[in-house]
Amino acid sequence: MNSGFLKNLFVWFIIFASLMGAYQILSEGKKNTTEIQYSEFLSRVDSGEVLEVEIKGNQINGQYIPINGSGGTVYFETYGPAGDDLLKQMTEKRVNFKFISTQESGFLAFLINWAPMIILIALMIFFIRQIQAGGRGAMSFGKSRAKMLSKEDNKKTFADVAGIDEAKDEVQEIVDFLKNPKKFTKLGGRIPKGILLVGSPGTGKTLLAKAIAGEAGVPFFIISGSDFVEMFVGVGASRVRDLFAQAKKNSPCIIFVDELDAVGRHRGAGLGGGHDEREQTLNQLLVEMDGFEATEGIIVMAATNRPDVLDPAILRPGRFDRQVVVPKPDVKGREEILKVHSKNVPLDSDVELNTVARSTPGFSGADLENLINEAAIRAARESHTKISMNDIEFAKDKVIMGSERKSLVINDHERKVTAYHEAGHALVAKLTPGTDPVHKVTIIPRGMALGLTMQIPIEDKYMMSRDYLLKTINILLAGRAAEEIIFNERTTGAGNDLERASEIARKMVTEWGMSEKVGPIRLTKKEGEVFLGKEMSTGSQLSPTTSEIIDSEIKSIIVNANNEAMNLLKENEKFLHDLANLLLEQEVVDSKELNKLLGIEEEIKSPPSNNEQEKASNWSPITPETTTAFSEIED
Ligand code: ADP
Ligand code: ZN
Repeated sequence: MNSGFLKNLFVWFIIFASLMGAYQILSEGKKNTTEIQYSEFLSRVDSGEVLEVEIKGNQINGQYIPINGSGGTVYFETYGPAGDDLLKQMTEKRVNFKFISTQESGFLAFLINWAPMIILIALMIFFIRQIQAGGRGAMSFGKSRAKMLSKEDNKKTFADVAGIDEAKDEVQEIVDFLKNPKKFTKLGGRIPKGILLVGSPGTGKTLLAKAIAGEAGVPFFIISGSDFVEMFVGVGASRVRDLFAQAKKNSPCIIFVDELDAVGRHRGAGLGGGHDEREQTLNQLLVEMDGFEATEGIIVMAATNRPDVLDPAILRPGRFDRQVVVPKPDVKGREEILKVHSKNVPLDSDVELNTVARSTPGFSGADLENLINEAAIRAARESHTKISMNDIEFAKDKVIMGSERKSLVINDHERKVTAYHEAGHALVAKLTPGTDPVHKVTIIPRGMALGLTMQIPIEDKYMMSRDYLLKTINILLAGRAAEEIIFNERTTGAGNDLERASEIARKMVTEWGMSEKVGPIRLTKKEGEVFLGKEMSTGSQLSPTTSEIIDSEIKSIIVNANNEAMNLLKENEKFLHDLANLLLEQEVVDSKELNKLLGIEEEIKSPPSNNEQEKASNWSPITPETTTAFSEIED
């Protein structure tokens, strides 16, 4: 609609411009007009030199041929009264004269007079339309952007939600309440107004909320926190008002606020502080939540994966006073989610969802749905009638590592360097006991990486030992070490490896108390300040001596790891050549081929014994940044 209008405007502009141009040319047709004095004009009339005259009010245009000139016609212009005397004289001297009306005539004059107005009006209409398109009506800025799913539109039920049974149990009573709020509260049931679903993206928070609405058969309002935060002050607050007004009309119902942290961050946390738009919106949300009675049958649910940054006022009684954690699914959960999503796709008899679940630690519900979807696409592309284990394996690689980029042109030397680099990672991983099994090595470029070594832990990890972390750093540095041993050169390909290795080493020293010299102290603050970067807030606390010790500790971890990787690879240089050559030949080497090459029996690695886990100080909880559910070591 808008582009059509724009085009119209443009066409009109062109027409107008060319008319103006034409008028200019027409009116300037009599070029080289010389302005003469009125007296000179009179005397030239008198001497009979003037041939023609046009009179328009006081303006007189015409032409004369000077008697004593070189003979050419001269166009002239002058101003003065054309009185009776003049007319009489001109008649005597046989001058052709005519009068022109002083009124500008016709369309042209109209356009010229009104052009600025027309353009202004057109522009105004244009901007109003723009605004309407943006805010769905200039007058509806403050209307909520919430989408409402009526109970007919919402087909989700608890059967669609798998693998998060505890969360499901916790919200079960909400369903009963929504089915009959009055009855429920008469019997003395206390129902929370607000429920905060906490969990990483894709774990099924939205799905769970929808399923509650679906089970209870009530409307479902969904809005994202970021929709509240607008550039116009006050818009967010009025959207909140509008949303609750709509909800009250449709109660019992559920309001679901996705990304609550977008509005709900700690007030006064932004630089510049004070009453910014977000705070107003948040205040309005709190006011609304305080303002309705539990009996009205409105449940506000919200999702976030950063409950730590939320304003404490949000979590007070009568607001979001109930938190339900929606975790990433464990093996059993993953299997159930896979079952839900493969219900309507034909699976080949060789597909074992349990195996798939075991090889996808760290996958969220959304990842698993994506996995099945990709497998189905691949099966269709290969014209299979059913999804095979092969398709799933392919899809898994794609979900984990991004699509293959077969078209990327890599020259032979780069390919060779990549092969040795990946062989280095894989060999060190393979030859170091107590590390995750190598699942696959490849030098097919994927996403940004030229090659990839993939390790999959036997089971989900919730803690990592110091020893395990050190070995991980060894593996990360092994790619570069291999390049150095074989080619005696260092390439940029190892940049990402170094970054990750340094990051782990830094955390070992500053967060997990794994360095002797620094001791069991946490030297980084939890990230909380919204606008202050992590590093900035850390740096300000540390004394120069401490910083120095930290740096030297990190360095010694890295240098040691590098030496170990170098030594291990030098001792096994034959294997390094063999594996690199095999990679160059077939691009992908899986764990079986790797074992064969190394002459290793297929080993079953056992999880760390309890005994080992008791060395408590050596274990660290996994923070989101370090969760290496599957570690990919990219080149
Ligand atoms: P979140 O709101 O936590 O980011 P969503 O609810 O939007 O995650 O999940 C996206 C999709 O992933 C869902 O529509 C669903 O198809 C799938 N999914 C996620 N978690 C689960 C689960 N526990 N059971 C079944 N499907 C799930
Ligand atoms: Zn690498």
